[in-house]
Amino acid sequence: STEGRLTINSIETMRKTSLPPCIRQLLDALQVDNKLKHDGRVHLWAFFKAAGMPLEDALKFTFTRMTAYANPEKEFKYNVRHVYGKEGGGKGVGAYGCSTKIKALPVEGQYQGCPFKHQRNLKQQLRNWGVKEVDIDKIKKKADDGHYQVACNQFFKSTHKDKEEKLDLITILHPNNFFDQSFDWNTG
Ligand code: SF4
Repeated sequence: STEGRLTINSIETMRKTSLPPCIRQLLDALQVDNKLKHDGRVHLWAFFKAAGMPLEDALKFTFTRMTAYANPEKEFKYNVRHVYGKEGGGKGVGAYGCSTKIKALPVEGQYQGCPFKHQRNLKQQLRNWGVKEVDIDKIKKKADDGHYQVACNQFFKSTHKDKEEKLDLITILHPNNFFDQSFDWNTG
């Protein structure tokens, strides 16, 4: 079970060590603007749920970080609970996979896509996210050639140290699969 893998207390550390680039991009945008458009919010909450973040933490995160809205608690409590399957009688929203993110068409002001496909200053992002300088052009080239998940895999390899012999076993299939493999890597 992924229960409790991600929490409000661990998210800032995980952001530097274990979150996939697509989620880091959402958090970077949120940090600058204190808001995210609808699709970005839902992608983030669905990722949180699948990463095992407790509902209470997802609510607290939303209320304390989406401060550009007049009353984030009033505006988003139902939506977060809905994604977690606690409202509307459904099972909630499943986390979005790479193919959905790659196919998304984020417009100006939206950040829910795959940063390797919908590039916005990718090299600077990679630098900010801790990729080694020698790897930046290599990753950018894979992204430019349309090999987005391969680029993501190389990102993983560049940002995970030690246990080099295990790197060949890493395959990125899903943003949450990126997170789970990184979590296991760093705790295993
Ligand atoms: Fe996220 Fe998948 Fe793109 Fe990696 S390849 S950044 S996990 S959407």
